[in-house]
Amino acid sequence: MSELAAKAGALDAADELAGARKRFVLDDAVVYLDGNSLGALPANVPGRVEDVVRRQWGELRIRSWDESGWWDAPERIGDRIAPLVGAAPGQIVVGDSTSVNVFKAVVAAVRMANPIAGEAVRDEILVDATTFPTDGYIAESAARMTGCSLRPVTPEQVPDALSGRTAAVLLNHVDYRTGRLHDLPSLTAAVHAAGAYAVWDLCHSAGALPVGLDEHGVDLAIGCTYKYLNGGPGSPAYLYVRHDLQDRFDSPLPGWNSHADPFGMRGEFEPAAGALRGRVGTPDILSMLALEAALEVWDGVSIEAVRAKSLALTDFFLECVGAYVPEGRVESVTPVAHAERGSQVALRCEGAGDVMKALIERGVVGDFRRPDVLRFGFTPLYVGFADVERAARVLADVLADVLGERLPEAARTQAARR
Ligand SMILES: *Cc1c(COP(=O)(O)O)cnc(C)c1O
Repeated sequence: MSELAAKAGALDAADELAGARKRFVLDDAVVYLDGNSLGALPANVPGRVEDVVRRQWGELRIRSWDESGWWDAPERIGDRIAPLVGAAPGQIVVGDSTSVNVFKAVVAAVRMANPIAGEAVRDEILVDATTFPTDGYIAESAARMTGCSLRPVTPEQVPDALSGRTAAVLLNHVDYRTGRLHDLPSLTAAVHAAGAYAVWDLCHSAGALPVGLDEHGVDLAIGCTYKYLNGGPGSPAYLYVRHDLQDRFDSPLPGWNSHADPFGMRGEFEPAAGALRGRVGTPDILSMLALEAALEVWDGVSIEAVRAKSLALTDFFLECVGAYVPEGRVESVTPVAHAERGSQVALRCEGAGDVMKALIERGVVGDFRRPDVLRFGFTPLYVGFADVERAARVLADVLADVLGERLPEAARTQAARR
């Protein structure tokens, strides 16, 4: 056994989260390093979904809105997510996609920043220039609708870009491509010092590391639940509106579900109190209740322990890659400093698309982000250190085989296409 394989064994033996893997449907043939794109299936979800469909829907039918807790599921499940992102209860609702929640949050932030109707004093939105694309598209549309201009800046440039014109700043907590973790406390403080509102996208941090929304005074936040929260494909996203801002949260998508008296069927809109004014229409109950079951894997798990293991996993992966992969074949674009690292490692690699295909064929599942990035997500609840050592070893094999034989031709065609 190699020295690193022995080290992996020792790290796994000392891992206090090792037992959590049993809570998921996984097979040992595959090392699953794509939980930052689609989290694995928690073992209790199929049974729950079966019950929701057959009994709650099939037998109770309409009665389930009350008797099975369908109606208040968005707030109830929001409260279940809250401790994972450092929020007290009553500030998160679940529903709609991340994209839709980005829209609600950015428009609402601009409206808060310009409280007098018709007087847009703050008419600029700053957006993370390295953002996951959907956030940028939505911010551009939100800017047009609110009469603002949109200015893309990197998170590092935000403090200098802020001014008395800034209404809202939309940032990704962790960069989806490089895995870089941005400094949420200090950026939020800078946004506040300029009198603007901070909107954070937590897609790649919730469930992977402590966020501290309340502690750091974040105004609005959104995130998906199908990555590190394992809610299943297309599971509903969430929206956080800080307690003291809720009365001023003026949603651009007021629906009957966010009405103070939804069954009053009244002509005029009157927003509900609290976080639930972030709701819109009828919630997607099947996905939502699958998510609720999925969140049970967090029972008894501390997010600090998850973070500690996540850093140990990514450190160990970088160590194994350094040992197994010949110098210069791959280049990590993920920061080395723990304070700047999320829960993934991104390796720039020639012919990355072909390399990832070969990795997947050999049972190591990560993903490929164009043009040249191999992405490996490390989900502490179900990835172990032996998995990490195996992934790095298989990567070295693939690079030797694929880059040695098939790749030059593929790389040439790619270069010709550019
Ligand atoms: C995954 C992800 C999204 C996804 O948005 P959807 O509306 O769920 O498709 C948005 N933003 C970021 C930063 C993401 O990582």
